[in-house]
Amino acid sequence: MKENYLNTPIDYLKGVGPNRADLLKSELKIFTYNDLLYFFPFRYIDKTKYHNISELEDTNSYVQIIGKFTNLRHSDNSKVKRLIGVFSDENGEIEVVWFRGIKWIEKSIKLNQKYVLYGKINLFNKKFSIVHPDTELLEKHTQTLKNALLPIYSSSESLSARGINNKLFRDLVLNVFKNSNNSFNENLNRNINEKYKLISKYEALLNIHFPKSQLLLSKSQFRLKYEEFFFIQLQFVFKNLINKNKFKGFNFSKVGSFFNDFYNNHLEFNLTNAQKNVVREIRKDFSSNAQMNRLLQGDVGSGKTIVALLSCLIAIDNNYQTTIIAPTEILAQQHYYSISNSVQALELNVRILTGSTSKKERIELFDELKNGLIDILIGTHAIIEDKVIFKNLGLAIIDEQHRFGVAQRSKLWKKNCTPPHILVMTATPIPRTLAMSVYGDLDISIIDELPPGRKVVKTVHRTDKNRLQVFKFLKDEIKKGRQIYVVYPLIEESKKMDYKDLMDGYESIEREFPKEHYQISILHGRMKTEDKSYEMDRFKNKETQIMVSTTVIEVGVNIPNASVMVIESSERFGLSQLHQLRGRVGRGSEDSYCILMSKEKLSNDARTRIKTMTVTNDGFKIAEVDMNLRGPGNILGTQQSGLLNFKIADIIRDKDILNLAREDAKKLIENDSQLKHAENKEIREEYSKLNKNSILWKHIS
Ligand code: ADP
Ligand code: MG
Repeated sequence: MKENYLNTPIDYLKGVGPNRADLLKSELKIFTYNDLLYFFPFRYIDKTKYHNISELEDTNSYVQIIGKFTNLRHSDNSKVKRLIGVFSDENGEIEVVWFRGIKWIEKSIKLNQKYVLYGKINLFNKKFSIVHPDTELLEKHTQTLKNALLPIYSSSESLSARGINNKLFRDLVLNVFKNSNNSFNENLNRNINEKYKLISKYEALLNIHFPKSQLLLSKSQFRLKYEEFFFIQLQFVFKNLINKNKFKGFNFSKVGSFFNDFYNNHLEFNLTNAQKNVVREIRKDFSSNAQMNRLLQGDVGSGKTIVALLSCLIAIDNNYQTTIIAPTEILAQQHYYSISNSVQALELNVRILTGSTSKKERIELFDELKNGLIDILIGTHAIIEDKVIFKNLGLAIIDEQHRFGVAQRSKLWKKNCTPPHILVMTATPIPRTLAMSVYGDLDISIIDELPPGRKVVKTVHRTDKNRLQVFKFLKDEIKKGRQIYVVYPLIEESKKMDYKDLMDGYESIEREFPKEHYQISILHGRMKTEDKSYEMDRFKNKETQIMVSTTVIEVGVNIPNASVMVIESSERFGLSQLHQLRGRVGRGSEDSYCILMSKEKLSNDARTRIKTMTVTNDGFKIAEVDMNLRGPGNILGTQQSGLLNFKIADIIRDKDILNLAREDAKKLIENDSQLKHAENKEIREEYSKLNKNSILWKHIS
């Protein structure tokens, strides 16, 4: 019954009152004390740090200053009424500006008394200023300085105009705690609490609002993020349990001679530990009697292809057929060549099917496929068409997920009575993928390690001003025997223009790199397939030094000797696309470079994208920036469901916690599928509270 206190309607809280109660409900969805406690601060101020006015430098950063107001005046030279204060400490002065509530502020500010100011500094007319800072008399500030870290809550204009500001939030939250006397239920079990040495629920909530130290803040954050993930993951585990009962999968019970022979005698390198782990996870799925639906995330160049091949070999060892589906013809061909090459010694029938496979070849191929004579069929989307019939498809691998929709995936399921195991591979944890991982309809594996010896691709930003230097650099690299990609954007809506850009670019490169000394390949979507592969082959065989192309080479192309990637009009590319393109270089042992060309003037977002590329090579970090730029609103269709509206956890930044929670949830249900054990009582209670209306829960209980 002790939960009752926290379920008290917010109207009853001291300091709220009917007007504020309405606002809290309508604007922030805060209906109860509990809702208020789960309205977390979005950042904290370190109250132990003070700045000197003379040392201010960064605009846009938050500062805390001790000083006095020496003057207050109304500005008369503008249409907007303003109140301007001069605030000075021992070494300097700064302007403080108010636009709203001027009357009240003028009355309350006392001149020549010590204040603490907190706010964001701006540079205006070459002078630093602060607009609408938090102000507090120093005397009061010292009295109330109980915590080193002061919570800051996000508030809207309309709320702060009605007095719902940081200070009020702090008071309200404090009021809830004051009378709470032990109303906080634990909601995890002993096992989990001990495993992570979690602080109690009460301490976590208290310290998320009023952190006694940085350490306690981190501990609170961990606990609350973990909980948030855990209960969602629990939901997915239940869902999967039901799914798995429905979708039985093939049991690949043995690892046989194809796998072993290849692994022991034909593998050209040692697998990284991350690759080994993933192969282990896949083997476990294969022998679980349930259909595998696994997502393999690994940065560009992390070596996903070999994992795919090894998985195929296990399926083949168990007398099943396999298929690998790539998003483009070029990539399909590349997989085809490299895989048939790798398994040459194994006497497997590896074949390719794409849009340009001739009718005659097709008839023959379909026949062999139906009779189970083909072991690995590599190709494009052409493979998922209904007329492509396997004898017994055991494993389907989809490379580069973001070009492949959920609908297409489910079409694959229908190729057999028993659906094949499915492995989806992606190089960029883009929102779509993330959403799915949060929906839990796929299990996730991550290769978080690059093969040894990989070098960071040095990335620079250049503009037309630097073009001559860039050309000179390219010539030097070619002299060293390297090859170069020059990529132009090709965007659906402006195809014609882009095509012209590409051709103009090609011509200017031909002029700069004359035929007597340089050979240039060109590749774009309008070319015939034969011509494309002809050009690709010339480049691969080092007959040409420069490959001018559109983004057709974006995904998966692997030419280790190419060490420079020049991206023209890079401001027009999205982050994940830039990262993919850059991933085409840095594959050999040589130093590699990515040169991002752009025009001089850039939008803020474009600048951030380019800047991000120059400071990091980490695909996961890049995805995070990408998501921040695009905003959570762009996470397809999940908004309404509320599933991605995490209060504190962040599916990208906190992916490690997500994985822990996921594993724990799985293990929990393995041992106690109905949550009936006494030790899991609290989990059961919390879960049923959170999922009162879910059909799944009814199904389980
Ligand atoms: P991606 O994950 O982007 O698909 P690939 O599978 O194309 O990456 O691998 C990139 C390159 O790294 C290939 O040339 C591949 O042969 C090589 N590679 C993969 N795994 C390893 C490893 N463990 N050690 C060394 N090289 C590897
Ligand atoms: Mg790949």
